[in-house]
Amino acid sequence: MSLPGTADEIWQLALKSLQTEVSRSNFSTWLRDTVGISFHDGVFTIGTSQPFALAWLETRLSSLVQKTIISMTGEEVEVRFQLLPAANIPRHSASYANSPHGSEAPGQGPYHQLNPRYTLDNFVTGDCNRVAWAAAVGVAEAPGSSYNPLFIHSGVGLGKTHLLHAIGNAGVRQGWNVLCTTSEQFTNEFVEAIKGRDISNFRNKYRTPDVLLIDDVNFIGGKERTQDSFCHTFNELYQANHQIVVTSDRPPKSLTSLGKQLSSRLEGGLVVGLQLPMYKTRLEILRAKAGERDLPVRAGVLEFIAENCQQSIRELEGALNRLSALASATRVASITLDLAQQALFDVQPSSMTNRALSTIVALVADHCNLSVDDLVGRKRLQNVVQARQLAMYLARTESYHSLVQIGAFFGGRDHTTVLHSCRKIEKEAESDSTLRQSITDLHTILQEKT
Ligand code: ADP
Ligand code: MG
Repeated sequence: MSLPGTADEIWQLALKSLQTEVSRSNFSTWLRDTVGISFHDGVFTIGTSQPFALAWLETRLSSLVQKTIISMTGEEVEVRFQLLPAANIPRHSASYANSPHGSEAPGQGPYHQLNPRYTLDNFVTGDCNRVAWAAAVGVAEAPGSSYNPLFIHSGVGLGKTHLLHAIGNAGVRQGWNVLCTTSEQFTNEFVEAIKGRDISNFRNKYRTPDVLLIDDVNFIGGKERTQDSFCHTFNELYQANHQIVVTSDRPPKSLTSLGKQLSSRLEGGLVVGLQLPMYKTRLEILRAKAGERDLPVRAGVLEFIAENCQQSIRELEGALNRLSALASATRVASITLDLAQQALFDVQPSSMTNRALSTIVALVADHCNLSVDDLVGRKRLQNVVQARQLAMYLARTESYHSLVQIGAFFGGRDHTTVLHSCRKIEKEAESDSTLRQSITDLHTILQEKT
């Protein structure tokens, strides 16, 4: 049998099958965010943006992946894995996380597929997410009365889905009728309903719950009839004082593709954002999660991860998952700093250094209304100094350039200056929410750009 379609179409089918073969956490850590790059001359190439995942896929999952692809294509294939910039990985995750057969969706009835691991209690709070958490608690205590709709937005891996499902779980415990879906699923069901001329079932399903939770509403964009339907549903629920919570990768006013009417509706309730966590919160999250898993880590290991994984909370979890898999595979009594360093950073790829320093610096200059020359120059004005430090911090966290390389780029400064700048920004951002927002925004732009 030879399958038609692109490498990625074949790979997406393979993932569906792999999902049933590996554990839920393995699937979400190593496989979910991968892409089929190419398939020719008997070589099937799969891409990941996670350096940790690359080594894991190669050493642990390669033969299972190969078997799966062979069983689908009917041809002998060799499997290779390759590191790609995150922006080149399409977001398939939504369809896995919430599909009826999805590994993350145990399902507690036909009307909600809530992940029971996501609760309000195990959501670690810091300055970056406390407001959103408090709003979620408010909604869970009195749905439909205080913040309606609640709109939660952030970049990937910062806790939107966690909060959404946590509200749902709290609601189910209190006996409400909760419906949790993704905008993708909502759209698919709508299209199916239209095709089957069975719109009344669809209407009933979506217009009766006490609490309607919709994940990643940004994916509704552009589909006019679905938007209309969502708008009607929204109005009916809202008028009946039913609670609506949605998440999105951007705030409502930037959701231009959603149509004016819908985005102004969504803006009319409470809009809260989740920012990137700074060091202290990252460490707290790691402590909580290592504790939950009884992970035997020695001193310094969690600090090391907190210092080096700054992109998202999902990345922090990925690092812990890798360590915990390693600990059980090698049966070590405890994870030392040495082992963690090897496990997490032995495959730091040179291809990731391609996020150019010039791109980062130009972006920060633009954001701060300064010139690139200001940032790499010697001016000591306070705003210039802070912008320069911010640019160095981002150069450190958003690219794999070394401190020495960054110093050289910034007008031949010493690597200790770069280190000092990074620590200073990290510390200031703990308490300065404007600075934290700048870091979060610039991070998002860089992810989209490169
Ligand atoms: P998003 O939906 O924004 O992409 P998720 O909600 O899927 O992000 O979060 C990614 C992972 O990080 C999940 O496993 C989630 O449980 C975890 N996570 C995110 N924020 C927190 C937090 N504040 N405390 C504990 N875990 C968190
Ligand atoms: Mg999500």
